[in-house]
Amino acid sequence: MVLKRIFHPSAADPTIVANSWWEASANPMRHNPTRLTQDYKCDVAIIGGGFTGLNAAKTLAQSGVNVCVAEAGHFGWGASGRNGGFCANTSTKKSLSEIQKLYGHDGVIAAVRAQEEAIEQVREFCEIEGITSDTPDKNAELAVAHSPYQLQQMRNESEEINQILGVNTSIMEKDALGAIGANSPSFYGGMILPWGFGLHPLNYLRALADATIDAGATLSPNTEIHQVSRENGAYILTTNNITIRAKKIIIATNGYTSENIPTWCKGRLLPAVSSILVTRPITRKEQQKQGWTTHHMTYDSRTLLHYFRLLPDGRMMFGGRGANTGDQTEQNTFFKELREQFDDIFPEWHAVETAYQWSGFIGLNRKKALFIGPIDNDQTAWASLAYHGSGVAMASWAGKNLAELILGQKTMDQLPKLYTNPTHKFPLDFLRPQYLKLAYAYYRLKDKRYN
Ligand SMILES: Cc1cc2nc3c(=O)[nH]c(=O)nc-3n(C[C@H](O)[C@H](O)[C@H](O)COP(=O)(O)OP(=O)(O)OC[C@H]3O[C@@H](n4cnc5c(N)ncnc54)[C@H](O)[C@@H]3O)c2cc1C
Repeated sequence: MVLKRIFHPSAADPTIVANSWWEASANPMRHNPTRLTQDYKCDVAIIGGGFTGLNAAKTLAQSGVNVCVAEAGHFGWGASGRNGGFCANTSTKKSLSEIQKLYGHDGVIAAVRAQEEAIEQVREFCEIEGITSDTPDKNAELAVAHSPYQLQQMRNESEEINQILGVNTSIMEKDALGAIGANSPSFYGGMILPWGFGLHPLNYLRALADATIDAGATLSPNTEIHQVSRENGAYILTTNNITIRAKKIIIATNGYTSENIPTWCKGRLLPAVSSILVTRPITRKEQQKQGWTTHHMTYDSRTLLHYFRLLPDGRMMFGGRGANTGDQTEQNTFFKELREQFDDIFPEWHAVETAYQWSGFIGLNRKKALFIGPIDNDQTAWASLAYHGSGVAMASWAGKNLAELILGQKTMDQLPKLYTNPTHKFPLDFLRPQYLKLAYAYYRLKDKRYN
């Protein structure tokens, strides 16, 4: 069966490896998992070997469950191995007040506590594995306003955060930004957020894959599932050469989800491209010339936001949204735009070469928040997806929680409603690529208008 996806097929070709700084600099895995070559039987089969799939597999295997992860590429091929390494909160596009309106004060607190728990889960794992943080220990995230109007919006947001969550965020004026080494003619002020840390995502992914194998799980790379069917209650997952038979399955394919694996997925997810460039190392003198020396994980106030951070060796990682289909020609045009945006924000670094550039898919949905739960209320098939571009922490949390649900250690009503509420199909779902194009055109105008 052909995998149906709504983006360009080359963007999901597992034989094409991202030209990423992470691929160039990651630690090798201790284990060397190889593709299953014979039919296989297990309790739980997981489709997708990113943070969701591996965290689920590790937790299940630690409880003695016979679990197998089928990954179309190598482990870390998907978004988990090619993201910006912001281990931060959110994974929803809803504001705190919107969440509060829908689920009450307890609901918003539960959603944010899960995000905090998620960050601590990853932090703890990284500490055990010796994966160091790339950012200041506390207050690691910095939001910057790209216009005076957006600075005012940020003031309101800061008040909302302080009031609803009882934390203490404070607004910094432009001078204060300069004083912490966050100077750019493009920014008018900002806000420090007291959550999260930056990491090398592929180092985290590979350490996680090793730990999952240590726990007893079977990891099968280069194993693209082409069909999911049922036979006498069991699931049959078919690849080009073998089948995997399982009592239960987990769908952990997020932005790389195809419409027919399984058919429940059709129309529920909107994959969107996120793109990153990484420069050569920028010397301390060059950093000082620009006035940007901070290693904070930074994002700006645009709807089509930029996210960026200085990496430990002085390279600048700079990401943004706006490309549509994953088609290479369109992608190359977008990389040029992204570089122009970089040059606008950091004019003193226009001569600093781009050394790596790549893109990947994030998952969006209609309810604007991740979905975790059973598929079609069937306790034998589970999914977690739609992290809205913030899945380093939350996909990890969701993977672990999926496993705990399957093990019966948790029930759905113990998880935040924001995440467990169903994820419905988009209306006229075949128009999703057009929705995205229209939305991007509108956001571009909106971001300029409030400039
Ligand atoms: C460029 C970019 C930057 C990002 N930056 C950040 C960031 O800084 N912070 C943050 O929190 N989040 C970020 N994200 C989002 C984050 O990376 C994701 O939310 C998270 O990695 C999702 O993990 P996952 O395991 O659910 O999916 P993925 O890591 O995407 O894994 C899904 C896997 O499923 C496999 N697959 C798909 N179909 C099949 C099939 N039929 N058979 C077998 N395997 C299949 C794919 O090969 C893929 O490897 C970014 C994403 C991108 C693309």
